[in-house]
Amino acid sequence: MIKEDISREKSAELYEKARQYFPGGVNSPVRAFKSVFGTPLFIRKGDGCYLWDADGNQFIDFCCSWGPLILGHNHPSVRESVVQAIQNGMSFGAPTMLENQLAELILTHNKLVEKIRFVSSGTEAVMSAIRLARGYTGRDKILKFEGCYHGHADSLLVKAGSGLVTLGETSSAGIPAAFANETIVAPLNDREAVQEAFHTFSGQIAAVIIEGIPANNGLLIQDKDYIDFLREITSANGTLLIFDEVITGFRLGFEGAAAYYDIRPDILTYGKIIGGGMPVGMYGASAAIMSSISPEGPVYQAGTLSGNPVAMAAGLAQLSELLQPGFYDELNRKTAGFTGSIQSFLTERGYPCKLYVIGSIFWIAFSELEIKKAGDIDPASMERFRVLHRELLNRGVYFGPSGYEVGFISAAHTPAVLETAKQAIFDSFDVVFSS
Ligand code: PMP
Repeated sequence: MIKEDISREKSAELYEKARQYFPGGVNSPVRAFKSVFGTPLFIRKGDGCYLWDADGNQFIDFCCSWGPLILGHNHPSVRESVVQAIQNGMSFGAPTMLENQLAELILTHNKLVEKIRFVSSGTEAVMSAIRLARGYTGRDKILKFEGCYHGHADSLLVKAGSGLVTLGETSSAGIPAAFANETIVAPLNDREAVQEAFHTFSGQIAAVIIEGIPANNGLLIQDKDYIDFLREITSANGTLLIFDEVITGFRLGFEGAAAYYDIRPDILTYGKIIGGGMPVGMYGASAAIMSSISPEGPVYQAGTLSGNPVAMAAGLAQLSELLQPGFYDELNRKTAGFTGSIQSFLTERGYPCKLYVIGSIFWIAFSELEIKKAGDIDPASMERFRVLHRELLNRGVYFGPSGYEVGFISAAHTPAVLETAKQAIFDSFDVVFSS
């Protein structure tokens, strides 16, 4: 049964004001709720697996700040670590011991990188990794995949997913053609396209970049064979393979999707999960490749807030929790149970949907056909997501406001909460398919 709409009066008022200040009323496009129903919700508070909006509505949160909150909101040890760090000042633009501590913790448990650099966002991490690959190889071109989003650096905003596909665009205005010309785009799961690019641009491709598990245009899980193929063709051509693990790094485990595929990329980029909600990104590689970075080498990359002590403190606390024995097993088991029963429900009811799940990341496709690349998704199916999203909000369940984005489960989602959410999801699907 269609559920009555929650009150959005206060959010609507705040949105009206925000529209005077910010383009589209937001500081990042997907937040504008353009492809779902109603005005954006303004969030007042998060605690554990719950969110509260300005109108006092409570939601079980499956967006988790787009992934980083793997422990849930306001986790006590992360909060305490941040509060303790803040007592000593918030930024120095000089080295601190906290950077060493976080680096040691990461490098002890992630053997894919020998040296790292902290930055302040995923975009910065990827932008820097691309510059590093170009500087290291002396080549200009990069190859990316259709639907993979790697942040908003110029050369990567070509056929990208996330907010671009949500808003019905796949590339951005304002990118000089000369930049875009250096970006080759191939469909995922397509060997010939990649082989052809290597043939046409022989000796010119600095790097192939792929999301560890593409998760910004649906969840496009690639076969191991395909990833092995990318590893082989890049090695054979003196091209670096970059794994963008901004979503998958530290979520599928400390070594992310690279460990899942049992492969060794040349450069890896990581993001927000390291900061437990604070602005952090990171890229890393072998010591030999990283020695190209300034001040050791000629590739310049810098940041006043890089390695910010408050963000480092949050990261230390969050990543320490993830190292507790069985942390990932338990989170993944919980996710498998939750998504498995949703899939069973959909199948029993004959609703043509399929859940894609990896670790604690999930995505609902409004199609039973196998989806492995951006072009497999029917944009018309997003109308169904629009109805689902509205029904879920009205039942106290918050998904990111786009059918192309994935959902996340955190350690704070208890079995009882997941039971409640499941019922809301079942009821919402009944509404979606009753119309
Ligand atoms: N790479 C990937 C795979 C991402 O999913 C994102 C954003 N979710 C980014 C890069 C950019 O990160 P940020 O928004 O922190 O700049």
